[in-house]
Amino acid sequence: MNSCFPILLLLLFHPTLRAQRFEYVEPHMGTEFRIVFYASDEADANAAAAVAFQRIDELEHIFSDYIGESEVSRLSATAGTGQKVAVGDDLWKVLTFSQKVAKKSKGAFDVTAGALTKRWRQAFRQKKFPQAQDLESAKKTAGFKKVKLHKNHQVELLKTGTQLDFGGVAKGYAVDEAMNVLKKNGISAAMIDGGGDIAVSDAPPGEPGWAIECSVYKAGELDTRMFFLRNRAVATSGDTYRYLEWEGKRYSHIIDPRTGMGVTSRQIVTVVAPTCMQADAWATALSVEAGTGVFRHLKKKGIEVSFSRY
Ligand code: ADP
Ligand code: MG
Repeated sequence: MNSCFPILLLLLFHPTLRAQRFEYVEPHMGTEFRIVFYASDEADANAAAAVAFQRIDELEHIFSDYIGESEVSRLSATAGTGQKVAVGDDLWKVLTFSQKVAKKSKGAFDVTAGALTKRWRQAFRQKKFPQAQDLESAKKTAGFKKVKLHKNHQVELLKTGTQLDFGGVAKGYAVDEAMNVLKKNGISAAMIDGGGDIAVSDAPPGEPGWAIECSVYKAGELDTRMFFLRNRAVATSGDTYRYLEWEGKRYSHIIDPRTGMGVTSRQIVTVVAPTCMQADAWATALSVEAGTGVFRHLKKKGIEVSFSRY
């Protein structure tokens, strides 16, 4: 008997072979989130995408420092009061991870730099360099050691004026969480792009991986580099789109919490990692100076980094 027949039949009924490509875009977290995946039923696909976007929206209402009532804004408001605040699972997870990255990067990445980042955001809007004394006082409120993690998910911000800013990590986490939602809804071949923080699950049907194009500098010019990835995440950080030009220097929206200054090194950092939260945070951390000792740690975690300089 010919043994190919049942295999062919099986292949014909395999869901990925009947899959169509679906694409959805929605604005969230100050950027555009794009979800692309393969599924066999349109109604199921639309429903899965809707729940994924709902999860991103839920996380935005936890992490945004633009929303006065967000969990992060409410926590920041308790800085220096001696209160221990019990936080939800999402905030606990991202905060504990951020504290580890802060330690490993020697404070190059630090979510307590919110007073500084707010001051720089204002400078960007006004196209004016921030006042030295404002930066000096904001700098005093930053530092990952000013966060105390207690048992039962309780957080204490030790210093008055400390403001948390998860802008360098929350989008990556939201991408990971949206991907988990898709998986729970039976979608295994997907790509989610949260404005440059990208995660992919299994490859599209018949393809070796997802083709992801990232910005890089080549010979001083802005160019692109292709990555073919599956079950990985990639993030880029740099000064390409958001910066302040002042007296011949270009200051990035990424700041060094230890000096209070916008980063001036002209580079794009690309990080490929197991999770998008890792890729996002480390792309931001390595845009600042994180010390050479960190690369061994990154290798151990399966995180690959490339720099392209202007
Ligand atoms: P993008 O938002 O362009 O994807 P990033 O992921 O690098 O870029 O995040 C930059 C944001 O992170 C800034 O806008 C600011 O809110 C915050 N941030 C800036 N510098 C730091 C830093 N050293 N550590 C942690 N977060 C930072
Ligand atoms: Mg980042």
